[in-house]
Amino acid sequence: MLRLAIAGCHGRMGQALVQAITESSGVKLCGATVSPNHDLINTDIGTIAGVKPIHLKPVDDLNFIIDNFDVLIDFTTPDATLNHLRICLENGKKIVIGTTGFNAEQKTIIQEMSQEMAIVFAPNTSVGVNLCYELLKQAASIVGENADIEIIEAHHRNKVDAPSGTALKMGETICQVLNRKMDEVATYGRQGMTGKRDKKTIGFSSIRASDIVGEHTVIFALNGERIEITHKATNRGTFAHGAIRAAKWLESKREGLYSMADVLFKED
Ligand code: NAP
Repeated sequence: MLRLAIAGCHGRMGQALVQAITESSGVKLCGATVSPNHDLINTDIGTIAGVKPIHLKPVDDLNFIIDNFDVLIDFTTPDATLNHLRICLENGKKIVIGTTGFNAEQKTIIQEMSQEMAIVFAPNTSVGVNLCYELLKQAASIVGENADIEIIEAHHRNKVDAPSGTALKMGETICQVLNRKMDEVATYGRQGMTGKRDKKTIGFSSIRASDIVGEHTVIFALNGERIEITHKATNRGTFAHGAIRAAKWLESKREGLYSMADVLFKED
């Protein structure tokens, strides 16, 4: 039985993970954290997540439960995740990172740490979104050179980073196929006298509204026709179950930085 811990079990994804783990076979929830000095420190983790009690309370420091789990699943904030990453490295633990919004320097730290520990770093753990990355490679290679490419994403009003990590990954996936550099072709939002559209541009638009879980559409607009690849998540269970699948896959892995594509398409 694979022993899991969740960082930030009170968050939207934290709660979805508690529920998903209780529904999954082969894994056991053996601990969870909340942010330091949280009011919920004495509340059952199941109760926090709105499922039946699991007779386990959260801690506000990962070090307190470090001997109780094999893989940490972390959907928190970039700073919190980097702190958890250091603790996991020092204690020989593996980690699935679902957090988004890391800057380039923070991504380099994750890369360096992966030389000594096993990490799945997945800005989107949904199986459907990762399938979309593959479809995007195919679309980009067939029509990408001649198309105007735009990426539109929509999320709930509480999301703090934009564009979403998934939208950026979609852009990077297309850039790799078309041999373009994201920092040269990405255009984030448009306003005022923008001038004509540069053919090589990849445009990003972000919508933040109400309780939208996560929607992404990539448009390849050609003369006389338009191809749109869309993914819509309707609840967070899809991300949670994907993260659990990643944790199970990681169990047998040694040090290295792995993606959801590794988890899904290099299954052993
Ligand atoms: P959220 O509801 O704000 O949850 C984040 C949680 O992290 C909060 O409960 C917060 O606690 C907790 N936290 C912050 N610092 C902490 C610390 N030092 N120790 C323990 N817990 C800490 O956000 P969310 O919607 O769940 O999303 C979380 C992250 O996952 C975001 O980066 C989001 O973009 C990403 N995400 C990724 C995927 C994917 O497929 N990879 C899917 C959905 C979301 P407090 O409330 O006490 O501050």
